[in-house]
Amino acid sequence: MDKRIQELAAFLDGSHSCYHAVANISEQLERAGFVKLQERDAWKLTAGGNYYLTRGGSSLLAFRIPQETPRGFLMAATHSDRPAFKIKENPELTGSYTCLRTEKYGGMLIAPWLDRPLSVAGRVQVETEQGAESRLIDIDRDLLLIPNVAIHLNRQANDGYHWDVKSDTIPLLGGKDAAGKFEALLERTAGGKILGHDLYLYPRQKAAVWGLEEEFLSSAALDNLQCTWCCAQGFLRGQSRGSVPVLCVFDSEEVGSSSVQGAASTILERLLQRLCRCLGLDYDRMLADSFMISADNAHALHPNHPELHDGGHAPLLNGGPVLKFQAGLRYTTDGLAAAVFRQICRKADIPVQTFYNRADMAGGSTLGHISLSHVSVPTADIGLPQLAMHSCYETAGTRDALYLLAAMEAYFSAALERNEDGFSIK
Ligand code: ZN
Repeated sequence: MDKRIQELAAFLDGSHSCYHAVANISEQLERAGFVKLQERDAWKLTAGGNYYLTRGGSSLLAFRIPQETPRGFLMAATHSDRPAFKIKENPELTGSYTCLRTEKYGGMLIAPWLDRPLSVAGRVQVETEQGAESRLIDIDRDLLLIPNVAIHLNRQANDGYHWDVKSDTIPLLGGKDAAGKFEALLERTAGGKILGHDLYLYPRQKAAVWGLEEEFLSSAALDNLQCTWCCAQGFLRGQSRGSVPVLCVFDSEEVGSSSVQGAASTILERLLQRLCRCLGLDYDRMLADSFMISADNAHALHPNHPELHDGGHAPLLNGGPVLKFQAGLRYTTDGLAAAVFRQICRKADIPVQTFYNRADMAGGSTLGHISLSHVSVPTADIGLPQLAMHSCYETAGTRDALYLLAAMEAYFSAALERNEDGFSIK
């Protein structure tokens, strides 16, 4: 198996929550010599410096300052979160068995969550003498399972069953005598009394490469950790040529981006303004020379349901990254942004596919159009084709990950030159 796909699989298997994903990218940035900034500190940024910051432990922004006077920002944005069941406060439900109270985070396919071992990962606030301290925890063992009802007791199970999340999706933890033990397990794992938590269920099945020629990759959270990994690796490998490359990983995309650290917050806008202040640059002029790629996975043609796509715009797994269009601008790509992305991919010798919703379908959306309400720059909405989006175990193409990695390296190494309405790429 390709070494880079092994690295991607290890990243997926080590990132069971948005907090773990951001911690793993932070570690890679640290290894590459990036300096962590704190928002509350005064910043001294120098030419040639590499920096990053995190907010809320689940969003991350990283950038490089070129040696020469910078000309615009080259940004790529992805998201760190995925649909999952989130564990409530006071979670134990006791009776004949011990179960956990959860609620839905984001819009998931429910059926794949059943009848498979699950575990718990996320962030807890632990009481210390100095106050509350954030710690990441991953229970990392088969701990829970949401059992189906047998077909004999639910004859409608195969006839378009309506899932009732207040009863159908409660995970089983143990027998009657497990009562009181879940919070004790969390506190043992966290190493202290827990004052607050953001904990999610995740499936225990590891990432797998499969298919006759190992052409497919399945894992939890391919939407959107696959794009996140490709953008982060492309960012790390890129050689800045005059622009300021900026990697943006936002939390909260699956619930509308409206959190302190989401794409609807001012985190990116304030960072770019502050960077300009520190370097004595004119923010408006910098923005006029800037571009954004919003990378979030796209719907591949389903082998059993080709009728769900517009035939001329039905991306195939391993056919290359996908430019996403929607006339109502739920996807931000217009002709100008498409031309920039196509020029980048042509330079890197990478095929590009296109996606439109079937004309009678509403389709999805992503963080690109939310981000540009604060940072208004031409934005290409792209993604990698995948199947079963928002299942807890999704499928994509192995070759596509390598295509996007190469495309992002080319993007972050490009010199964009603004002309009257568009850009040329050098
Ligand atoms: Zn997504």
